[in-house]
Amino acid sequence: MGNIAENVRAILAELPPGVRLVAAAKTKSPAEVLEAIEAGVEIIGENYVQEAQAAFAVVGRKARWHYIGHLQSNKVKKAVEIFDMIETVDSIDLAREIGKRSAAAGKTMPVLIEINSGEEDQKAGVRPAEAEALIRGIAEIPNVAVQGLMTMGPYEGEPEDFRPYFKTTREVFEAVGKTGLPQVEMRYLSMGMTHSYRVAIEEGANLVRLGTKIFGPRS
Ligand SMILES: *Cc1c(COP(=O)(O)O)cnc(C)c1O
Repeated sequence: MGNIAENVRAILAELPPGVRLVAAAKTKSPAEVLEAIEAGVEIIGENYVQEAQAAFAVVGRKARWHYIGHLQSNKVKKAVEIFDMIETVDSIDLAREIGKRSAAAGKTMPVLIEINSGEEDQKAGVRPAEAEALIRGIAEIPNVAVQGLMTMGPYEGEPEDFRPYFKTTREVFEAVGKTGLPQVEMRYLSMGMTHSYRVAIEEGANLVRLGTKIFGPRS
């Protein structure tokens, strides 16, 4: 399993106050997830509902669970049972489904809006210019609470190459924050992965999603 505990402790010591770590656990075993939690990780990020169910069976509520993958509507019911936050909402239809399933489960789901900050054609997320209109729509949906934004940015590049995408996302975050929309909080800005989190923090991220840096490379 390598040095998961050591890696977690080093990262937690490095992160500035107010910046929270999400351990991106895709392809990792429940035992590895548990090791990260025992070393101090408080939030697990999962891309796949089925993998999350397996890890949840072992870990339960010892951690908080964030959904960070692309959520299909037929998986929303199961996702609502496990997750404390869905970071990747990018359409009104998905938000409606989350609202419906959350209402049935007697809860309100905190969500982040995923921004396609690179404006890439095949990429998930709403384009920056369309984000505010989407958020205004989602604000009307019961049992869904918008709490911030998330972005991935393009996959390739040096850390510094990500800066413009993080900056764009932070500008949307600030602009939406100024609208004072009821039921909308701009509280969490989830940006940055293993190669880019330092730049993301400089650009205002307060949630960073690290996989490789905690668990080592994925096979
Ligand atoms: C895999 C993943 C991460 C973590 O990526 P690393 O480069 O391994 O740190 C972060 N966010 C999302 C959405 C991911 O799918």
